[in-house]
Amino acid sequence: MLRGTFAMIDLRAIQANVHAVRGLLAASAKLLVTVKANGYGHGAADAARGALAGGADYLGVASPEEALALREAGITAPILCLGAVTPAAAAALAKVNVDITLGEPWVVDEVPQFNHTVSVHLKLDSGMTRLGARTEADALALWRSIQSRSDMKVVGVYTHLAASDAPELGHAERQMERFEALLQRLYADGLPQDIIIHAANSGAILRRKDWHFGMVRLGISAYGYPASQDFESPIALSPAMHFYAAVTRVTDVPAGTTVSYGATWTASRPSRIATLAAGYADGYHRALSNRGEVLLNGKLVPIVGRVCMDQMMVDVTDCEGVREGQVATLFGRSAPPEWNWYDIGSMPANEQLAYLIATFRAYEQHEPSAPLLSADSVASCADTISYELLCAVAGRVPRVVVEA
Ligand SMILES: *Cc1c(COP(=O)(O)O)cnc(C)c1O
Repeated sequence: MLRGTFAMIDLRAIQANVHAVRGLLAASAKLLVTVKANGYGHGAADAARGALAGGADYLGVASPEEALALREAGITAPILCLGAVTPAAAAALAKVNVDITLGEPWVVDEVPQFNHTVSVHLKLDSGMTRLGARTEADALALWRSIQSRSDMKVVGVYTHLAASDAPELGHAERQMERFEALLQRLYADGLPQDIIIHAANSGAILRRKDWHFGMVRLGISAYGYPASQDFESPIALSPAMHFYAAVTRVTDVPAGTTVSYGATWTASRPSRIATLAAGYADGYHRALSNRGEVLLNGKLVPIVGRVCMDQMMVDVTDCEGVREGQVATLFGRSAPPEWNWYDIGSMPANEQLAYLIATFRAYEQHEPSAPLLSADSVASCADTISYELLCAVAGRVPRVVVEA
């Protein structure tokens, strides 16, 4: 790495979060961890390894390509493709033993005959209005059309909750009533009792044990965040991604100086401005212009002016001792104070990674209460959610993986 913009991906955190969630579940319940969108930005195969080390039984992906990539990376665990599939995608997934989701009877009819059995999860729409059979008639038609196929085996039935992260769970409760009514109708029509029923996403997993059924689908909380800031998690969660950018320039400017595109910020006093090597093309939202904060020297400093494509500026007038080469935290744990990009950047690649990982671990151990800038709080500033910030971290940002 040469630029000084990188994310530390702590698989120990994913492992610990998954393990803690495992502890909330009944012994018989399975745990699926979603690693879609490149593992919420953490790296799909790495996130999958962390999740499996923490006790995940299943992995969830959004697209056929994501499932194929995990198989190519050598991951043999059960995978469920949660997204809609075309008949061609279903055939490609069946070949690599990935479970598919079917919600529309017409897709079932279009899927070509397989020469081995494909595992199918029926999707019921209980109120998200996104995918799945919505009415009793549709659910029955779906179930019957799959039953008529000798090459398909129903292994699961599930629904997805739209508001399990809301302050009040009324909407989710109505969805669960609707889901249970649809399920009863399917049981009456011969759906076996031993099928895996699943409904809970992170919000529901953390808040309602009675909604765990035979499996839960854990996403954001595997990566260290509750689904929203509107409820308290019953377990401790550790963020798994820590996003850093080096300081590339520090300059003193007189009052009246403007900063960045559009000259939207003007120094009201003599100011010290530091430039960071990250911008919106790295996944740091431009909406954070003149609003966001980063951690430098353990202190929060404000972003001034617009976030550029590859760089941004912060006001460090009130932050002692900021120098070029220091590393700012865009979100996650405060960077170890000894990190200096001018030294780290000139190390040979293998030494560089070993140094970053060793110092990151040592700092965490010796300073467990070092400041942490949560992706949730940065997200609030940008009017979005932690999910979007995590999966926005761009492909050009190198990931440094701390193994589980
Ligand atoms: C992404 C996803 C999940 C996980 O949701 P989180 O809120 O991240 O826990 C669960 N189920 C489905 C169908 C999903 O698409």
